[in-house]
Amino acid sequence: MAVGLRHFGVDSLVVEKHASTLDFPKGRRVTTRTVEILRQWGLDEQVRTRSLPAAASLFSFEGHTLLGDDYERRALPFTQFKPTSPTRELICSQEHLEPVLRARAIGDADVRFSAELVDFSQDDHGVVASIDMAGQRVSVHASYLVAADGSHGHTRDRLGISRSGPGVLGHRLSVLFGADLGDRMASRASAVYWLRAGPAPAGSLFVAVDNKDRWLMSVPYDPDVQARESMTESRCLELVRAGLGDGSVDVSYLGHRFWDPTALVADRYRAGRVFLAGDAAHLTTPEGGLGMNCGIADVHNLAWKLAGVIAGWAAPALLDTYEPERRPHAVACAEASLGPARPPNPVDGLVLGHAFASAAIIDDGTPAPTPRNPVGEYIPMARPGHRAPHLWLGTSTSTLDLFGSDFVALTDPAGKPALDHAVELARTTGVPLSAHAVEAAGWHELYGVGAGGVVLVRPDGYVAWRTSTPPQTPHLLAAAVRTGAGHAASSTAG
Ligand SMILES: Cc1cc2nc3c(=O)[nH]c(=O)nc-3n(C[C@H](O)[C@H](O)[C@H](O)COP(=O)(O)OP(=O)(O)OC[C@H]3O[C@@H](n4cnc5c(N)ncnc54)[C@H](O)[C@@H]3O)c2cc1C
Repeated sequence: MAVGLRHFGVDSLVVEKHASTLDFPKGRRVTTRTVEILRQWGLDEQVRTRSLPAAASLFSFEGHTLLGDDYERRALPFTQFKPTSPTRELICSQEHLEPVLRARAIGDADVRFSAELVDFSQDDHGVVASIDMAGQRVSVHASYLVAADGSHGHTRDRLGISRSGPGVLGHRLSVLFGADLGDRMASRASAVYWLRAGPAPAGSLFVAVDNKDRWLMSVPYDPDVQARESMTESRCLELVRAGLGDGSVDVSYLGHRFWDPTALVADRYRAGRVFLAGDAAHLTTPEGGLGMNCGIADVHNLAWKLAGVIAGWAAPALLDTYEPERRPHAVACAEASLGPARPPNPVDGLVLGHAFASAAIIDDGTPAPTPRNPVGEYIPMARPGHRAPHLWLGTSTSTLDLFGSDFVALTDPAGKPALDHAVELARTTGVPLSAHAVEAAGWHELYGVGAGGVVLVRPDGYVAWRTSTPPQTPHLLAAAVRTGAGHAASSTAG
């Protein structure tokens, strides 16, 4: 959130009650869309260098044990590069990803670890937060509060916001251990290692952390039969050895955690000046690795809206579009995490194809796509509400690289003079706006416009408005920009 806000020049204070970032691997799948967001923030390369090499992350493994001979290694359906994105998804352990974000956030914001939000109040003008900073109580006045305090954070309850969904779906134990397996795993390296029923309990799996000497084993357990206290260090190591299938491996215990796969979504994302984001707003099961990705997409959606309202070019009503745009996506992710997103199933439909509907999106009357598999199948299109599709504009520049700061109006070279005139008029709205002529082959077809048609893309890369023919009057663009920035709708018929 802090990185996203700084991108638009907004100051923020981050408080985290722990002394540092996560030191126990949880999430690892960084979806294509999240890598696109990281690219917008200039962090994709840093995350890539901390991720598993493609040769390992593009495979899944299935066997009775991790080191046994009877295993299958299957290519996952995502390729190194897709024609639909300038990036590819990565497998980066959350304990490696978070420090990249922390390092950037420290430069971008006032970041305080060992600092706990203990109370807050709000009125029409702002939020007052009471924060315990290393034992000292501090009162902070802010314009808004974003509660990214996780599933167990108290903000949601304090706001009286309930959650809906299937709920808790099981109980699992994660064991983090050290074992020098790099050489033995070289030819079978994968992103995930499913274990068939065998020496380890059915439903167990290993997940790659670095695929060398740091590993995580995930085991289901029944708390009614196996009390948590019975999961001692020696029991954890016993489970790991069963999963490895080779008792001679030198294994060191690094820790264990209990967690419950859960699918729940908050019924509201906003109460006044307080917004929920990330696990505070939604929980998906880890199947498909969607939770953290969904959270990063939340703050990417919210950052430019807060920035616009704080700067004054967006109407406060723009903030009302956060919930209708983000909540349905979380519901879709939670549902997909019940099975459809389970690797090796693709999730492109969910992460690239999910479209927003809100008062800031101007419907152009064209039909929504009807993919046979909405979770897996992404149909690129520039229909309002959709992520503006990727098209190479040269050897290394994507259409996506045009987005991230201003609203961007796209047209073809022939339409550019008229668009420039419309942009001049639209600048009176105060909304940051630029124009770009796309010369790349395939633009008209991919973006669904004829000669001189215009597509207006928001700072988050989603289409706000589209006219397939040249706008009838240059004022239409200004009207569309105003609606896209949350001001009361005016006529934008093309
Ligand atoms: C086994 C497992 C595997 C997973 N795999 C994936 C995956 O592959 N891909 C994926 O996208 N997701 C995955 N996830 C989900 C992912 O880990 C979470 O969605 C993600 O951590 C949520 O981030 P968050 O910042 O919203 O919440 P959290 O990570 O829970 O962070 C919330 C933070 O808020 C702090 N906090 C709480 N209250 C306060 C307070 N009052 N004051 C100050 N600080 C406070 C907490 O200390 C905590 O650090 C997985 C989860 C698990 C358990």
